[in-house]
Amino acid sequence: MSDFPFADRLSTLPPYLFAAIDKAKAAVKARGVDIISLGIGDPDLPTPDFIIEALHEAAKKPVNHQYPSYIGMLEFRQAVADWYKERFTVGLDPESEIVTLIGSKEGIAHFPLAFINPGDMALVCTPNYPVYNVATNFAGGEVEYVPLVDGNDFLPDLDAISEESWKRAKMIFINYPNNPTAATAGPEFYAKLIAKARESDTIVLHDAAYTEIYYDAADKPASILEFEGGKDVAIEFHSLSKTYNMTGWRIGMAVGNPSLVKGLGKIKENCDSGAFQAVQEAGVAALKKGEPFAEQFRAIYKDRRDTVIAALQKIGIECRVPKASFYIWAKVPHGFSSTDFCTNVLEKTGVVITPGNGFGKPGEGYFRISLTVPSDRLEEAVSRISKL
Ligand SMILES: *Cc1c(COP(=O)(O)O)cnc(C)c1O
Repeated sequence: MSDFPFADRLSTLPPYLFAAIDKAKAAVKARGVDIISLGIGDPDLPTPDFIIEALHEAAKKPVNHQYPSYIGMLEFRQAVADWYKERFTVGLDPESEIVTLIGSKEGIAHFPLAFINPGDMALVCTPNYPVYNVATNFAGGEVEYVPLVDGNDFLPDLDAISEESWKRAKMIFINYPNNPTAATAGPEFYAKLIAKARESDTIVLHDAAYTEIYYDAADKPASILEFEGGKDVAIEFHSLSKTYNMTGWRIGMAVGNPSLVKGLGKIKENCDSGAFQAVQEAGVAALKKGEPFAEQFRAIYKDRRDTVIAALQKIGIECRVPKASFYIWAKVPHGFSSTDFCTNVLEKTGVVITPGNGFGKPGEGYFRISLTVPSDRLEEAVSRISKL
């Protein structure tokens, strides 16, 4: 059989830094150890029944068996507009400022194809969701990394980015609440970012997948579109995945500056044919009636967060108490690298945690815990680690 060479763009893929963990996990599993995985950012709770019922009804309609509109059903886009109005007091025109996505990952991955020319540069705040740099490279662009460090509350230091870089940058990728650091961003940050982006004609891509996973009503995360001038520079990617436990459904949205939404729509028109309309109808139900359920899920995550934080503090592992996201970003004990610590924990305890360096260089010295397993398993996991 011929062995066909991959296109050059696949050689731009960064080295896969989770390989050591994957290997260790397979070996530990083979020994028959009870593995507790705190590695994956995928909600363990089921999708609420009323959303499943809505899908069931919608799936019976023959009109939904045909190709959907590539930018999404107007009904779904209207529901997104209503939800943004209610949640963020942001007004959006469903016709020109919203596009339905097959999950926000799909939209983020396609977006650079519409705005990055070969040789263009994009700023990527790191440690980060890998799609940002990979999608930029696939479009022929170059990435300049902006470090997220504890000393600056895991926000990019916008003044430390040179004038020249701001001029060159086609776009900047930001993500708050952040995966993996669990950091949140406040109004001063957004105001300054918008000002910088306006001065330098830089597109702001805000990945807002975790705005609904917060722990106190006083700390509700913002949309970048809430701030003056936000719509001049930004496109925001959002998703039903994390809010309503719908990761498998593949439904999300991009909203904001009409030219940015239009560019993304042009790529999608030529790559996919939209999201299954029955899933969009279920998405409408989720956006309209999902809030009480989202409230319950937040309470569950809060309980889990408190369990893990208390246990980590007891064994002397340093970490901030997150205000949002379902992650805990903790420091590895002195004398270990991220990979060594996580591999050691896995081999000795069967607990999977994610080494921070896998998300980018400034993640070295950290590990990430995902709160997507029940409290008793979280307690068991931390208790095993504490015996190390
Ligand atoms: C989970 C996640 C998403 C959402 O992905 P979907 O494709 O909408 O399921 C987006 N960004 C980040 C950083 C995530 O962790």
